[in-house]
Amino acid sequence: MPHAFWIDSVENENKKVYLSPSEANHLKVMRVKLGEILTGLDGKGNIYRFQLETISKTGATGNLLSRKHEYHDGKSLIIFVASTKWPRIRLIIEKAVELGVDRIEIFNSRYSVAKILPNRLDKFYSVMREASKQCLNTYLPELCIIDSIDQIDHSNSLNLLLDFTGSPLQSLSDSIASSKNVRILVGPEGGFAENELKKLHQFCLPVSLGKRILRVETAVIVSASFASLQMGRL
Ligand code: SAM
Repeated sequence: MPHAFWIDSVENENKKVYLSPSEANHLKVMRVKLGEILTGLDGKGNIYRFQLETISKTGATGNLLSRKHEYHDGKSLIIFVASTKWPRIRLIIEKAVELGVDRIEIFNSRYSVAKILPNRLDKFYSVMREASKQCLNTYLPELCIIDSIDQIDHSNSLNLLLDFTGSPLQSLSDSIASSKNVRILVGPEGGFAENELKKLHQFCLPVSLGKRILRVETAVIVSASFASLQMGRL
């Protein structure tokens, strides 16, 4: 059974919580019984306890018992990653939720093997919600599609470009720990295009993960785990 269920909306006056039709279906599949006390999340830092009241095709409802708000530490860990095929992107966004990433920027690079369209983001959110329920991360990362490097708001953040020629990531542990905002930028399978690299080098510090050529998803997981540890998120 997942550790939590996803709450779509809350009616404070009547102390009711509402769950979507797909979450209701999930409750049925899990054979959860009416009257059971469950945990709910909304991706905005709230943890609910509720008693399941109804389940139907149109959704589920529960009686709200309590709500606790987990305050955000005010820092932000951002992953900027070149778009790639769905199984790899799926893994990246799932692990990003587990590792406490705050924002995932998916970059349609010139050499990306697959481009992502903004109208295809529903399944991304569904993966993030499932990951959040499983690991009990109360904050869902923000997700956005970037079509040009000029769209990145790189001011006020430590921008680390994963690059084989950079200094070892470990050598930046103190800078990462003391930064409020950290962005890690990971290239596509075919590498960044020359004009993309030129722009990135204007505001990024190149950092290396060693001599082996890691797959995009491995590079994201290794670097985000390291940064998350340094930032006190893990
Ligand atoms: N042939 C591509 C190239 O030369 O960039 C290999 C791309 S690699 C599969 C995908 C991305 O992961 C790279 O663009 C880089 O950002 C990151 N990456 C993989 N291994 C790395 C390493 N050992 N050090 C730094 N970055 C790495």
